[in-house]
Amino acid sequence: MITRFAPSPTGPLHLGHAFSALAAFDMARAAGGQFLLRIEDIDQTRARPEWEAQIYDDLHWLGIDWPEPVMRQSTRGAAYQAVLKDLFQNGFFYGCACNRRDILAAASAPQEGAEPPAGPDGILYPGTCRGTEIALLPPGTPNVAHRLDMGQAAIGIYAFTETGEGPNGESGTITFTAEEAVALLGDVVLARRDGFVAYHLAVVLDDAAQGITHVVRGQDLFEATRIHVVLQRLLGLPTPIYHHHRLIRDEAGKRLAKRDDARAIARYREDGASPDDIRRMVGL
Ligand code: GLU
Repeated sequence: MITRFAPSPTGPLHLGHAFSALAAFDMARAAGGQFLLRIEDIDQTRARPEWEAQIYDDLHWLGIDWPEPVMRQSTRGAAYQAVLKDLFQNGFFYGCACNRRDILAAASAPQEGAEPPAGPDGILYPGTCRGTEIALLPPGTPNVAHRLDMGQAAIGIYAFTETGEGPNGESGTITFTAEEAVALLGDVVLARRDGFVAYHLAVVLDDAAQGITHVVRGQDLFEATRIHVVLQRLLGLPTPIYHHHRLIRDEAGKRLAKRDDARAIARYREDGASPDDIRRMVGL
């Protein structure tokens, strides 16, 4: 068994991160497996070295260790670009110049007043650029994002194993069809208009490159897992077992965000909490 924790160094780790990291670490240790750390610093406009240093420090303090060197997404550009090029050449991928406002306008037009359908990343893309000249522009073209043509990419029936729980109690074998992938996920962005590879593609490539067998993470990523499973089949990569855990919420029931400094691990440390206190707070 190989598990991982994959934080983005864009803010302090909070209780929710501690839960993910400890759960993944404990799961590997209980099985005599290995726990790996991966720094998801693909977005170089938001990643900061001081947050990365704080992540190492907080995790060590929690009693977590991992083999070195740590995989860092910022060093994996060549691997990502090779896959982007391949997907494009094989027609699974098309250029899109729409901004958020264009997408909202196009998605709202057919059903005036009704909420446009949403997927894991927000409003489902209505396909505006598909089949246009923009669609033919290659990855790397400035201000052009690249989307997976889900209708081309998804085939047959998909399944993955969930040993935790989705937000509606989903667990066990989760199946979905290619038609459901089109309807629920739409044409997701795999290369952003700023040139960075999108999370969904990076996470699939990185989990495979690290040989991850069990992905432990928060329930907020349960719906996105379908995207990852479609990509794994398309790219000929194995599908790990998924374990989505409940989210840690604040007193008002809202899920914790990066800016929630009040629940930063560093803050609890300053206030004299012990690693066991943190374990108790997240229910481990
Ligand atoms: N880097 C993501 C985050 O910090 C985690 C992605 C994952 O676990 O798949 O939210």
